[in-house]
Amino acid sequence: MRLRCPHCNSVSAILTSEAVSSTVTRHYVVCKNINCGHSWRATTEADITLSPSAIPNATVVLPLSAHIRRDVIMAQLRGPTTSEYEPRRPQPYTRDLFATDGPS
Ligand SMILES: [Zn+2]
Repeated sequence: MRLRCPHCNSVSAILTSEAVSSTVTRHYVVCKNINCGHSWRATTEADITLSPSAIPNATVVLPLSAHIRRDVIMAQLRGPTTSEYEPRRPQPYTRDLFATDGPS
């Protein structure tokens, strides 16, 4: 993601980011223009769904874009056909750091 410096409009670099919530992230940004040198905090927020997720998080509720054909999606979801599929990237395994029987 690229942010522009609000003072000189040069490209900037995001040095670090922290999640405030599942839809809001704060970024700490520095201007790459050596003659400017401005640094600032910026906030980004997911505010609308343009294409629904295949693995939605039930706690994330974003309004759907008006261009999404809800009637077609609903008809497809109600349809009888499903197919077996194993995602190529399974969910990451986060092991318990305090477990005594896990891998080292
Ligand atoms: Zn700048």
